[in-house]
Amino acid sequence: MSTLSVALNSAAPILPAGESASLSPAEAKRQTFQRETNALVSAFHREQLRLSNVDWVVTLFLIGVHVGALAALVPAFFSWSGLAICLVMHWVTCSIGICLGFHRYLAHKSMKLKAPAEFITMMCGCLSGEGSPLTWAATHRLHHQKSDQEGDPHSPIREDGWWAHIMWLFPKRTTEVSRILMRRYVPELVDRPIMQFFEKTFALWLWGGGLVLLAAGWATGGWQLGVSWLVWGMCVRMVAAYHSTWFVNSATHLWGYRNYDTRDQSRNLWWVAILAYGEGWHNNHHAHPAVAPAGHKWWEVDVTWWSIRLLRAIGQAYDVKDKLPQGRGADETDMAEIARPETAAA
Ligand SMILES: [Zn+2]
Ligand SMILES: [Zn+2]
Repeated sequence: MSTLSVALNSAAPILPAGESASLSPAEAKRQTFQRETNALVSAFHREQLRLSNVDWVVTLFLIGVHVGALAALVPAFFSWSGLAICLVMHWVTCSIGICLGFHRYLAHKSMKLKAPAEFITMMCGCLSGEGSPLTWAATHRLHHQKSDQEGDPHSPIREDGWWAHIMWLFPKRTTEVSRILMRRYVPELVDRPIMQFFEKTFALWLWGGGLVLLAAGWATGGWQLGVSWLVWGMCVRMVAAYHSTWFVNSATHLWGYRNYDTRDQSRNLWWVAILAYGEGWHNNHHAHPAVAPAGHKWWEVDVTWWSIRLLRAIGQAYDVKDKLPQGRGADETDMAEIARPETAAA
């Protein structure tokens, strides 16, 4: 469900030069669409994970954050204030930023947000360290469209649990793949100034947040408290949030029960629902991706839905899709407009 950066380097052109000259516009468009589809399938295929094709920026960053979290085992770096910052930041970045902002608002348009709420949720998402809003939303829409089929970026059914959990993040992906992802999967978002702003600044928010924690802790109680706030407020919090959201990609396509007979293997898993603020009701979500509440039975608790209701109550969220469609739904219904040749071609 997440990536730090999907596009970093250049690639060969998708359409061989001159090939479309003798084709009708419709046929050229169809062929371009098919080549781009093949490029996406290839980019997220497991065979891309080779030592010569590792995205070292993403990989070393993830290793660094995990190593940093190990510093929490040093008693000198523990503080109750650091633990409190960790818990609050985990909720702010994971539930408000990722679950509410990047996932239900941006990727699925489950609600509309007023400008202040939109800015704050996008900022919280950037502070999670799960990459830019547009890359996150585009990759997630691709997951829904291809779920557990060829082209799914992270299917534990087609590959295995480790691939779906974390390893799919490691291969380097090209700027061409990023361009295709953006144009096909988030065409209505790419030109919005606020999205362009966060596309350019998402990493600065993260690094800035770390510096602020270090400096504030240091100013409050010396360098040891500064390191404590950094270790607990950044590293421990990010590692916990990473695995919480990654379990949605891995565990909830493997274990749990199904309320809906979707075409994928998505499942509802109570402990992921707790860890990931309601996102563990993943079979419900795949059946009705655009519906804002992920819990569809009274006991399927969805903490992120509580925040959406609060935003609606104070007027910051509106047009919230809170009703289940009549009859059994399937994810083809809500994602039908995504990435058809006629809507996706440039
Ligand atoms: Zn899924
Ligand atoms: Zn989704």
